[in-house]
Amino acid sequence: KKSGASASDPAASGFVEIRRRGLMLVLSSPSGAGKTSISRALLARDPLLEMSVSATTRPKRPGEVPGIDYLFVDAEEFNLMVNREEFLEYAKVFGNYYGTPRAPVEAALGAGRDVLFDIDWQGTQQLDARVPKDLVTVFILPPSTRELERRLHTRAQDSAEEVAKRMAKAADELSHWPEYHYVLVNHELEQTIQQIQAILQAERLRRERQVGLHEFVKALREGQ
Ligand code: 5GP
Repeated sequence: KKSGASASDPAASGFVEIRRRGLMLVLSSPSGAGKTSISRALLARDPLLEMSVSATTRPKRPGEVPGIDYLFVDAEEFNLMVNREEFLEYAKVFGNYYGTPRAPVEAALGAGRDVLFDIDWQGTQQLDARVPKDLVTVFILPPSTRELERRLHTRAQDSAEEVAKRMAKAADELSHWPEYHYVLVNHELEQTIQQIQAILQAERLRRERQVGLHEFVKALREGQ
């Protein structure tokens, strides 16, 4: 209401600003539940959302781009990063190490941008212990075992051995769904994307994430 604003009405004239702290949106699921497609769509549709790029000791797959899909490092470099406490969390998954670099996340949250994480249940537990207030966790279930198997087999990059390993691990991964804030079944990609967008929209409005609310309301009251 710009026309009614005056110096004696600081809230209405915009002197007191409400800023929003960014949030951390974690998507976990057994491989093959559709997480990668969901993440891509969320990032493409939401300019305030950015992907956390993990460091990993896993070999690069064909088509993966260093610095975009992962920071590919050797075990020695990974250890150095652990010792320098550069990770918000890290874990061993399928025999390789994966970790979330801390600095980009802290910069984004402070600037009011949200960060999307594709990490497993171990990493989610660590974040929950360390930064619970900033965290929103979503577990994505595949619609059926058959569908999970089908999706794992159509991921051409992975060897048969790798697929078998992941299938076995999926059962273990599945058991962690009760540790998440939200649980979705990915029946249909578009619907799942929209459900996560709805979660994101509501979570952004939480009182705890809005910095300066006290000052804003105080100014409103003084202006009355
Ligand atoms: P992939 O090798 O298929 O890219 O990932 C294998 C698994 O590692 C996935 O379940 C993925 O969520 C998980 N992962 C990827 N990056 C991280 C990370 O930084 N931390 C943790 N804890 N898990 C990760």
